[in-house]
Amino acid sequence: MSEWDSECPDCRGSGWSLVSRDGTEAVVSCPRCGAEDRRDQLLRRASIPDRYVSKDFRAYHPDPKFPTQLEALTNSILFAENYPQVHRGLLFSGPCGVGKTHLAVAVLKNLVLEKQVSARFVDETELLRRLQYSYGPDSPETEREVLRPLYSADLLVWDDLGAGRPTEWVAETIRTILNYRYTRRKQIVLTTNLPLKSAGGSYPESLGREQNLAERIGTPLYSRIMEMCEVVELRGHDARTGLHKASLDAQKV
Ligand code: ADP
Repeated sequence: MSEWDSECPDCRGSGWSLVSRDGTEAVVSCPRCGAEDRRDQLLRRASIPDRYVSKDFRAYHPDPKFPTQLEALTNSILFAENYPQVHRGLLFSGPCGVGKTHLAVAVLKNLVLEKQVSARFVDETELLRRLQYSYGPDSPETEREVLRPLYSADLLVWDDLGAGRPTEWVAETIRTILNYRYTRRKQIVLTTNLPLKSAGGSYPESLGREQNLAERIGTPLYSRIMEMCEVVELRGHDARTGLHKASLDAQKV
C-alpha cells in the first residue's frame, strides 16, 4: 500500500484543491473530501445501531430455499437505485431473523453513501422509551429533540413497527409522524415481525402470536402505511439460530 492510499487522491489529504476558473487559479476546499465528510456526518446522524453498522447489500446472502429473500434484496436495490424517483417506501414483513432490519439498514446506508440522503434509523421500542423518559424532570432531551429528526430526515427507517405497547398514545405518535411525512412525500422504510392483515393469522414460525399488524396498530394507521409502502414479504429460518446460520457461517470462512 502506498503512503497515499489512506489520503484523498485529489488533495493528498490537505483538504484544499487548486481549480482553474475563467483563466485564473483558485484554492478551494476539496470537493471530494467535502463530500466524504458529509457522508460521514450523515452516517453518524443516521443513528444506525452498532450491531447493524456493517450491514449492506453485499453482506446479505439470500437463502436459496426461500425465494422471497432474493426478491427482497432485488426490491431493496431497485428502491435505492431509483430513489428519489420512487412513489412509495418499503415495508419489510416476516418472522424474526430473516434479515428485515439488515436490508432496511442496507437501503439507508446505500442512500447516504451514494446519494448523500439525510436519513434516520429508529427502533420503535427504543423510541417510545426515550419519548416517555423525555417527559420526566431528569431527561437529558425533550420530546421535541427526540422527534425532530423523525420529521426532518429525508428517509426514515422505522424498525419493529408494532413492537411497542399498543396504547392510543403510541398509535397517535406514530400516526402524527407518518402523516407529516406522507404529506411531504418523505419516504419511509419499515420493518415488522407481525403478520400483515392479508396474511390472515400468525406465521407458522411464530405460533402463539395473536395479533396481526392491523389489529396491533389500528386500521387507520395500517391503511395509511399500506398507501405509503410497498410490502416486501420475507420468509425463512431465523439466521441467528436457524438452519440458515450454518450456511452463512460457512460463507464467512
Ligand atoms: P430481522 O430484522 O428479520 O429480525 P435481522 O436483520 O436483525 O432480522 O437479522 C438477524 C441477523 O442475521 C443480522 O445480523 C443479519 O445481518 C443476519 N442475517 C439475516 N439474514 C441474513 C442473510 N440472508 N444474509 C446475511 N445475514 C443475514
